[in-house]
Amino acid sequence: MYISKSFIPILKNNPSEAKIKSHQLMLRVGMIKQSSTGIYSWLPLGFKVMKKIEQIVREEQNKIGAQEILMPTIQSSEIWKESGRYDDYGDEMLRIKDRQDREMLYGPTNEELVTDIFRSSIKSYKSLPQLLYHIQWKFRDEVRPRFGIMRCREFYMKDAYSFDVNDTEALFSYNKFFLSYLKTFKRLELTAIPMAADTGPIGGNLSHEFIILAETGESKIFTDKRIFDLSSEGSDIEKNSLEKLRKKYEQFYSVTDEKFNKEKFEKEVTKENRLITKGIEVGHIFYFGDKYSKPLNAAVDLAGGKKDFVKMGSYGIGVSRLVGAIIEAKYNEKDEIMKWPFSVAPYELAILPMINKNDNSTLEKATKIFKHLEKYDIDTIIDDTDENLSSKIKKFNLIGVPYQIIIGKKSEGDTLEFKEVGKEPKNLTIDQIIKILIKLKIKN
Ligand code: ATP
Ligand code: MG
Repeated sequence: MYISKSFIPILKNNPSEAKIKSHQLMLRVGMIKQSSTGIYSWLPLGFKVMKKIEQIVREEQNKIGAQEILMPTIQSSEIWKESGRYDDYGDEMLRIKDRQDREMLYGPTNEELVTDIFRSSIKSYKSLPQLLYHIQWKFRDEVRPRFGIMRCREFYMKDAYSFDVNDTEALFSYNKFFLSYLKTFKRLELTAIPMAADTGPIGGNLSHEFIILAETGESKIFTDKRIFDLSSEGSDIEKNSLEKLRKKYEQFYSVTDEKFNKEKFEKEVTKENRLITKGIEVGHIFYFGDKYSKPLNAAVDLAGGKKDFVKMGSYGIGVSRLVGAIIEAKYNEKDEIMKWPFSVAPYELAILPMINKNDNSTLEKATKIFKHLEKYDIDTIIDDTDENLSSKIKKFNLIGVPYQIIIGKKSEGDTLEFKEVGKEPKNLTIDQIIKILIKLKIKN
């Protein structure tokens, strides 16, 4: 892809309406365009990043045995009346009438719909557990949409639902998602801390929010610093191992402000380990037993011949919010340098030739390298404009493409000037460069 033919509407300066750095950068490099309050179009750069995040989220769901489905965005009000949430949900729900005057709504979440799907087919404990998920647009008519795609009205979410025969099995499912969330965020190069959380309108009795630290975050958090040293390394998808993992995290006090208890915090956490700061919620998991299965009558036959309501949990990840959250975590706004994690970068490599008038040789060289890299599936863009090299480098530092090949004076003979954003350039052969990039492509 040549940048001259790409749809990357870069702005000269930061847009004044953006208050936080992720919103600034996304508008500045043309990742999104607002279409109305809290509703955005995703332009090529932004869309590519979001789709790469989505794929990582998907792979980690599949690894724990969750099955992907796709439910519609528009739902009928009937099932929401069955669960009793149609009236409770309030003004955040966008309610619509069709031509027959039927009450419909744009789904803010899917507990009812997925339970309806489940109950129509699964009748026996033998088919449990069922872990179903989808990745779909949601609409919540937020009182104060702000910060671009961080708190908007239409957003892209992965939501999963678990159905189990009893509490023990249901907690096993809960812990599988707990692990898969730690792994997902790690692949996105984020440190997301699970925090005991309130259950809010979803309801239930056990819940964790996954929060990444950021000054601009909307969640106030109180933690024991030592939680940041933990990892999911070595945990298997097996009951005891998963329970151990959750206990390991739960030994350290870490809550959002709804759950904050000053006395407990000061008793459990020594002064030097206390951290009170702000963060962004990127995921949220809930266990709520038969809260929905009971009113919606989702029951299965048990081994002994009796019937019981299934025990459910739900598990969300803000896929679109993650695009902004990664920027908040990685963007150095002072020097205007962004470096996307290789796994989700809009392009993995930029080739920046110095182009002189009447001399196409550097552009030809760039195109040759581009074609060669295509064979290795390396996602590359060429800057074929006639800007000088330093402004091309600056532009790609801002876009956040993590690696650059600079074809100028220093790329003579067999070696090329190769640069990782934020680091000193090196002179390497094309084979050495390919080796480095291929290694990064191997999933961890
Ligand atoms: P918040 O507390 O930020 O309003 P929530 O608790 O209402 O979020 P959940 O129902 O837990 O949200 O949704 C799962 C995930 O979807 C959240 O963890 C968040 O990452 C994302 N999300 C929720 N609301 C929005 C929104 N308005 N815009 C973008 N992403 C959102
Ligand atoms: Mg939440």
